[in-house]
Amino acid sequence: MSVISQVSVLPFEFTVQGLSLGQHRAMGVSNLRHAPGGTLTVSRYAIRIRTDDGCQGEYVTHWVGTPAALAQTIMLAPHLLGRNPEHREEIYDDLKRELRAYDHMGHGPLDIALWDLVGKKYGISVATMLGAYRSKLPTYASTHHGQEDGGGLDSIEAFADYARACKEQGFAGFKIHGWHDGDRRREAANVLGARAAVGDDYPLMLDPACELRTYADALYVGRACDEASFFWYEDPYRDASVSAHGQRMLREKLKTPLLVTEHIRGLEQKANFVLAGGCDMIHADPEYDMGITGAMKIAHFGEAVGIDVQVHACGPAHRACVAAMRNTHYYELALVGPGMPNVVPPVYTCGYSDQPESIGSDGCVPVPTGPGLGVSYDWEFIMRNKLVEHAFS
Ligand SMILES: [Mg+2]
Repeated sequence: MSVISQVSVLPFEFTVQGLSLGQHRAMGVSNLRHAPGGTLTVSRYAIRIRTDDGCQGEYVTHWVGTPAALAQTIMLAPHLLGRNPEHREEIYDDLKRELRAYDHMGHGPLDIALWDLVGKKYGISVATMLGAYRSKLPTYASTHHGQEDGGGLDSIEAFADYARACKEQGFAGFKIHGWHDGDRRREAANVLGARAAVGDDYPLMLDPACELRTYADALYVGRACDEASFFWYEDPYRDASVSAHGQRMLREKLKTPLLVTEHIRGLEQKANFVLAGGCDMIHADPEYDMGITGAMKIAHFGEAVGIDVQVHACGPAHRACVAAMRNTHYYELALVGPGMPNVVPPVYTCGYSDQPESIGSDGCVPVPTGPGLGVSYDWEFIMRNKLVEHAFS
């Protein structure tokens, strides 16, 4: 039996060219904008778990990298020492309880590293451990947010042009993240503009990311989604997508399926949200929702009640989960835009990529087949750029 003997959590920084935070100067997905010549400094963290018999599991976060999530991961890391890494259900249960007073965002990266460790121990991929359903993942382009200053996605015309370009590149669908001011008329016009640009038969989605200010605004934009036959309408307004009652009222008046629960954390809360009538589709994310262990529980709950599950965001753990789900549609390449790179960390030495040019002509990305997550990390880069090492042994 392997016993966990060492856990390291290493926050590090890297730079991304062509983006900035604009006037915000506060890191957040919503604040990223196109900036020719700009340099953006981004923080993420790496995890390395070792056992007494020489096994190692690794993971580098993609969209979890905030100080709040990092603090939770550091809180949890010592709880792994002395445990059997193959007992992921027991560990999941204990870590979930440890973070019961918090939002659980620091739990997932540790669970993912455990799956990587056990897959490497037995020489099998995580997708195979889960019981793969597919080996290629239809991928949609998930855009950066609209911006007010010139460049990038700065107008309805820019969104329409980029939707057309993504369709021509082969993406299986296109999702708009709109502007931050929650102007219902501009958002609705953007929905109709994108549909006109790509024709009737191309999957389009809208994610206002909770920027619409009122229920009435959400209804107004939702009716444009109905008119334009959008595939889903996601997290519309300022209940921050946690009010099952509010979302149920929208569902009663709209035709477009509502995709909600990106901000409802974990199996129990998502199940209760669905059973309260709050959505047509649910989100799961192995980083956000307590790991691969947590995300697959959510997928199977959805299966039980006849609901489709979308995996939020991108990464090797996300690919393994999408590969193992019957009741899902797409892999989300988040976030992309014209001349705008994705801000995922440049830490792979195996060719793995979530940049927009990584999709194939069939609109798919592959599922890594190597042991564990099937990726290899550039530890020299991580160690060179690390801010500190939190080591537990
Ligand atoms: Mg979203």
